[in-house]
Amino acid sequence: RAHLDRIAAVDGDVHAFLHVNEGALAAAADIDARRAAGEQLGPIAGVPLAIKDVLVTTDQPTTSGSRILEGYRSPYDATVVARSRAAGLVPLGKTNMDEFAMGSSTEHSAYGPTRNPWDLDRIPGGSGGGSAAAVAAFEAPLALGSDTGGSIRQPAHVTGTVGVKPTYGGVSRYGAIALASSLDQVGPVTRTVLDAGLLHDVIGGHDPQDSTSLTDAWPSFADAAREGARGDVLKGLKVGVIRELPDSGFDPGVAASFRASLALLEAHGAELVEIGAPHFEYGVAAYYLVLPAEASSNLAKFDSVRFGLRITPDGTPTVEDVMSATRDAGFGDEVKRRIILGTYALSAGYYDAYYGSAQKVRTLIQQDFATAFADVDVIATPTAPTTAFKLGEQLDDPLQMYLNDFTTIPANLAGVPGISIPSGLSDDDGLPVGIQFLAPAREDARLYRVGAALE
Ligand code: GLN
Repeated sequence: RAHLDRIAAVDGDVHAFLHVNEGALAAAADIDARRAAGEQLGPIAGVPLAIKDVLVTTDQPTTSGSRILEGYRSPYDATVVARSRAAGLVPLGKTNMDEFAMGSSTEHSAYGPTRNPWDLDRIPGGSGGGSAAAVAAFEAPLALGSDTGGSIRQPAHVTGTVGVKPTYGGVSRYGAIALASSLDQVGPVTRTVLDAGLLHDVIGGHDPQDSTSLTDAWPSFADAAREGARGDVLKGLKVGVIRELPDSGFDPGVAASFRASLALLEAHGAELVEIGAPHFEYGVAAYYLVLPAEASSNLAKFDSVRFGLRITPDGTPTVEDVMSATRDAGFGDEVKRRIILGTYALSAGYYDAYYGSAQKVRTLIQQDFATAFADVDVIATPTAPTTAFKLGEQLDDPLQMYLNDFTTIPANLAGVPGISIPSGLSDDDGLPVGIQFLAPAREDARLYRVGAALE
């Protein structure tokens, strides 16, 4: 009730939610009944959960921020949603996002932008700006996001929240509307590292419905966070700092906050080790070939027949006429831009030059990580180059928008886990700044330990 009241009070300004679950109170009462009947529920049973609208839900509509899915209702729940319900979490609503998770500001949502609760004239990051803003504005204590190139971590950075992109395959993608299947991961957005660990424990682990799901037995990430908060985990920890990064265009306030965090790590016994990551600078270029290629294929299913919107032109239109009228009206400009880029990159005669080269760069970035992690336990970077920018500031400049993710994208290309935790407020403008830690694949627990220790 308190969270619904908070949503009623502030969401007219923030617009974090596309849909508020009218069944939330009944679902909460049901948890009480299950508990009263003696059912052993997990540690976060009864806690409300905001769900990024990229995740399909049976009890609420799912649009992925797109007009083409307006009114769509899924016949099944995404695995992460089903697991959340089973653990007694209460679905609070569906959060706003850039259309099909393409963007870094939530301004590409077909349903209007979300605003940053720290300053309503500024963006909350993207694509999962709704989830991060909901958590930052105390409309929800926990949220789910998806991260293909930074969409959990960059919104966390600009809203002063915690965001985790798990190891690729660590959390099921079943029922997460695919943007780029080889990059997408679902993860938590919360106010503390422990909260993120508690939610990750609920949603993570093998799912036979996702062919890329890892079969590993995972440790408790909540326990890892508790260990970090209590113990001396920073002592002797080798923290890699990328040699190529410091002069690559960070806001002075972001750079200063990062240096202060590094000093804090050192003061607590961590050892800073300079590492090379010579191919990171090609990450954005490779990503914007791999992602559109996969997205153009994934979005082919929105054909006016199988899902959502259908626009039938006058006269005696052919199937193709209906399909193009629907896709023309249903997709926004950024989605169309990426479909065109993707189909071009995959077309005969260009495939090797573009997609093939991007895949090679992807391998080189994976090798950069492998070399670095032979010497260090984690890598630290600022999560993103700037604090929250003003709405409209980058909307007409796609390249500038794409560059927001140059520190987050390498983790997706290599499949390694990353966390963004708040590192304070910028001296420039008083807005939140985040620090990102990256670990080797399958070592997500390390991020919870380090994050909770520094928090
Ligand atoms: N901002 C990036 C993009 O536009 C990342 C998106 C994401 O992680 N879903 O592709």
